[in-house]
Order: sequence, then structure tokens, then C-alpha cells
Amino acid sequence: MSTEPLPREPQGVLPPHPGLALKDTPRGKALYTRTGHHKGETLLEHFGPRATFEAGARLAPDHVMEVGDNLVFLPSGALDDFVNHSCDPNCRLDYPGGGKVFLMALRDIAPGEELSFDYATTTTRAGIEAFPGWRFNCLCGAANCRGEVGSAEDLPPERVAYYQSAGALAPHVLRPLNLALPRSA
Ligand SMILES: [Zn+2]
Repeated sequence: MSTEPLPREPQGVLPPHPGLALKDTPRGKALYTRTGHHKGETLLEHFGPRATFEAGARLAPDHVMEVGDNLVFLPSGALDDFVNHSCDPNCRLDYPGGGKVFLMALRDIAPGEELSFDYATTTTRAGIEAFPGWRFNCLCGAANCRGEVGSAEDLPPERVAYYQSAGALAPHVLRPLNLALPRSA
């Protein structure tokens, strides 16, 4: 076992929305909304100790999220650890800068819906190479389910266009996709 201390958690974590609830499902734990949300609403902050790919693969290979170049969040132990993937998600990740990552409603969300985002929107091919378990067979059940979830580079072009127009692509996946960062206003 490594004796390397975990990096400290970032400060200023947004509390989860009080309308969120964790439920046990046949697919494991999942995060639901009791109250519903409007498009553009911020639901929670994704956070966790930051680690390189190498450290993340050693410490928590199946429970990390790629958030930058050679950078992952280790599990936070909070509700953000339980947002599942969907190929037709109702949420997206928002990267406003300063290392912050939020979960935002991609469309209006009805009470009782499970919250999800598309894991490929924050995953690069380099991430998949470091974490082979990130390529998985998808059981999301969406009409447009891709069957296998991989990296942003594996997304169909029309999905890339949709996610780009919705601001759903993480900054670190834009370069591998040969897309420019949006101009700031
Ligand atoms: Zn799917």
C-alpha cells in the first residue's frame, strides 16, 4: 500500500441541492431529483482530491473522473460520486474555470428523474488508456444509446456538435477534438 497522503480537498464546495436523493437501483446507486429543475440550473459541485492519472489509477481506478490534462478527481464521498452516465443525459458538466466543476441541467428535468451526464464529454483517449475500465458497455436504455461508452474522440460527429453547442464538452477534450475554446464574452 502507498503511504502517500491524499491531497487536501478543495475549499468552498457547493452543498448539494436539497431536492436530490440517492436511491438503490438494480444498476447500483443512482442520484435522483425530487423537485425537478430548469435548464441551466446548477445542481451540485463535482469535487474530490486531485490526482494525476498515475496516482488515480493506483488509488481508485474505477471511481475517478477526468477533469483536466493528466488530472482526475478522486471520489469525494458526496452525492457527486453517484451521477451515472447516459447517452441521452439530462445534465452536463460545467467548467467555469479555477478548477471548478459543476453539474448543470442540460434541459428541463421533471421531478423523479434520474440525473445523468455523458461521461465521454469529459474523457479523452489518453484517459481511456490510463483507465481501461472507463470504456464500458452501456445499459442506459436511451434510444440513441451508443452501446459502448468511450472517449470524446469516439463520439459521433452529430453528438459532438450538439454537446459543443450546449457547452457540454470539458475544456480538456476540445484539443483532442480539434475544437477551439469558446470565446469569452
Ligand atoms: Zn447508453
